[in-house]
Amino acid sequence: MFDTVLIANRGEIALRILRACRMLGLRTVAVHSEIDAGLRHVALADQALCIGPAASARSYLDPKAILDAAVLTGAGAIHPGYGFLSENAGFAQAVQDAGLVFVGPDAAAMRRMGDKVSAKQAMLAAGVPCVPGSQGALPPDPAAVQAIGDAIGYPQIVKASGGGGGRGMRVVRRADELLQAVAMTREEAGRAFGNPEVYVEKFLEHPRHIEIQVIADAHGHAVWLGERDCSMQRRHQKIIEESPAPGIDRAAIARIGARCAEACVQIGYRGAGTFEFLYEHGEFHFIEMNTRVQVEHPVTELVSGIDIVVEQLRIARGEPLSFSQDDVVLRGHAIECRINAEHPWRFTPSPGPVRRWLPPGGPGVRVDSHLYSGCEVPPNYDSLVAKLLTHAATRDEAIARMRGALDETLVEGIETTVALHRRLMDEPGFGAGGFDIHHLERLLEAGTLQGATA
Ligand code: ADP
Repeated sequence: MFDTVLIANRGEIALRILRACRMLGLRTVAVHSEIDAGLRHVALADQALCIGPAASARSYLDPKAILDAAVLTGAGAIHPGYGFLSENAGFAQAVQDAGLVFVGPDAAAMRRMGDKVSAKQAMLAAGVPCVPGSQGALPPDPAAVQAIGDAIGYPQIVKASGGGGGRGMRVVRRADELLQAVAMTREEAGRAFGNPEVYVEKFLEHPRHIEIQVIADAHGHAVWLGERDCSMQRRHQKIIEESPAPGIDRAAIARIGARCAEACVQIGYRGAGTFEFLYEHGEFHFIEMNTRVQVEHPVTELVSGIDIVVEQLRIARGEPLSFSQDDVVLRGHAIECRINAEHPWRFTPSPGPVRRWLPPGGPGVRVDSHLYSGCEVPPNYDSLVAKLLTHAATRDEAIARMRGALDETLVEGIETTVALHRRLMDEPGFGAGGFDIHHLERLLEAGTLQGATA
């Protein structure tokens, strides 16, 4: 089996993967763009290789550049992290075809679960409840589309099968808006995802975003590691995640969790994955599966004590899961605040040199970040610069710990969303828990969080 892992990513997740490799005594290869030579994991990796210019399309998104680097450095496995090529089944296939190990599910399972229409079909077959909607992709005939839409009822949401990152979706409130929305989403999806296929589902007005973390080995074992509530969102992007989800019946979560684990076995899924649900009126509705490690995976690591990235690597090496469902014990409450290099409430990007970075510490505090004093945040990539997590026996204590940790955090040189999080920790709706996915946008519209200083 492999003893060298190529880390096909950057930033905090590249560092996170490097740490997991070190836990297992695996050699690491960092590949980076020209602008990223100063990244922390590049300095720490056993070997580093520049694979192209700053533009992602010619570096982190270039399958050939990454495969060539793997061959050149003798890496036996490629860990894609999240984003970039992590959900590209064509890349996973190319890695497999080159005789290397892709740390993730096999290309066929990725293809199936990566396409939202086929994922929904697989989930329905596995007995996982889905948002009511069209049976598969919409047909080309406009009259048939209108009939399907009218049968589902309004409001509804038109979604691209190949969509991701909160793009390729359009809400339709009235019957006479449907055909134009379908045409526009098809056009957009064809351009953005290379797949014009779209489908419709009922638009839920006040859902919560609840997701189930699963992990499955190549020997037919799958377990679920609790849930995460990711309802604090802006433009479909998660801002805060926590576990457990406040106020949801544990028995209901256990039922849906068990379904997800069974579904993994049924579809031959291997590796870490996340089943995303909208939760409304006491019901779970599956929306999509993410076939990779997620940004918010540390929330689950804190409550479960399981190192998800280490498990991913073990599974990729062909090892069976070392624990069973009964061994999974969820303890206390964990919260993650995503710190972005952005203005705290105008959300304009704020790249540049970081003059000073002083992360918080103390009991129950975890910081996943690649920042250091004197580093540079380039404008070319995702604005996430740090994930700040706290863990405590209760939700209130985890929040109290987060307040302290945010107060301790010092970032000079760039603007960050630390100030937004600091205000959210004192916001009554957040304090109560159980808010819906529009909560943050309502607060921002009302001007509740915006302060005089920034
Ligand atoms: P992506 O792959 O782009 O993240 P998802 O299918 O996960 O797309 O949906 C992203 C977000 O869009 C959800 O978290 C939710 O906020 C909203 N959304 C998706 N489907 C629905 C729906 N049927 N009703 C209401 N909101 C939805």
